[in-house]
Amino acid sequence: MSAEVIDGKAVAAGVRGRVAAEVRELRLAGSDPGLATVLVGDDPASHVYVRMKREACEEVGINSIHHGLDAATPADGLRDLLAALNEDRTVNAILLQLPLPAHLDAGEMTGLIAPEKDVDGLTPLSAGLLAQGRPGLVPCTPAGVMELLAHARVELEGARAVVIGRSQLVGKPIAQLMLGADATVTQCHSRTRDLAAVCRGADVLVAAVGRPGTVTGEMVAEGAVVIDVGTSRTDAGLVGDVDFDSVAARARAIAPVPGGVGPMTIAMLLSNTVRAARMQLRASGSAAPAPG
Ligand code: NAP
Repeated sequence: MSAEVIDGKAVAAGVRGRVAAEVRELRLAGSDPGLATVLVGDDPASHVYVRMKREACEEVGINSIHHGLDAATPADGLRDLLAALNEDRTVNAILLQLPLPAHLDAGEMTGLIAPEKDVDGLTPLSAGLLAQGRPGLVPCTPAGVMELLAHARVELEGARAVVIGRSQLVGKPIAQLMLGADATVTQCHSRTRDLAAVCRGADVLVAAVGRPGTVTGEMVAEGAVVIDVGTSRTDAGLVGDVDFDSVAARARAIAPVPGGVGPMTIAMLLSNTVRAARMQLRASGSAAPAPG
């Protein structure tokens, strides 16, 4: 078998087009969606990510409002800014770029974001809603994984799904989303015994580790669908967790690195921003347009 390569760039372009249409509809309904990005410090990679997110906003007509804070900003300074953004009616969504400088507690700070503006889905309320299977804002990368699975027409109901990784940002939300889609989910981590045997039982295998070569061909069942979320920078460039060649020879479909999940993360940030704007419009008593 030679796997279908799931084209994340194409799927992400479709999501961006859908978001652009939704932004136009929201404007007609009286809402002008706005995303506030907050970056503390000088981490070069974070600057690049925030710039890419803001450019993507511009492309689909979302207002982006940036707040760059000095690396030495005290905790109270960041708390005050987040409180002001929570109150600001021109801001529908707040993105606090991580990592934060060491003196700031990322868990505390993300937890201060109003849940209805929590576009990264990282507040305890958003995580709790997801765990309970109730509507809320879902972390962008896991939401992107679900879009890729839908695009590849992967039937999750009753499927055996294995997720490698259990972080709050990636592994746990992916497992919960697949459980919500009626898959039978097994979650693996660094203490899992005989990872290869567990993976071989998967119809759908998602790797979110950050360790190249975690998944090789002999760990994958013939005809499985494999989504590679991991990213590691190596001398050979950006690589995922999955050994592409040996896995593609057995899988039915594979989302590769680069070009699979990566492009979806920003697309889902845009999608979450319009979702937040629509939820807020509805809560204000106006008739929000139906999702596109
Ligand atoms: P993380 O917080 O470091 O979590 C890694 C997970 O992998 C942990 O649960 C860890 O288990 C597990 N793990 C480590 N070694 C393992 C092993 N040998 N066998 C099985 N499990 C193992 O990382 P993360 O934030 O979830 O991100 C995961 C990967 O996704 C990273 O490479 C990250 O760069 C990538 N990522 C990509 C995107 C994108 O847009 N493409 C977005 C977000 C993240 P323990 O819990 O036991 O430590």
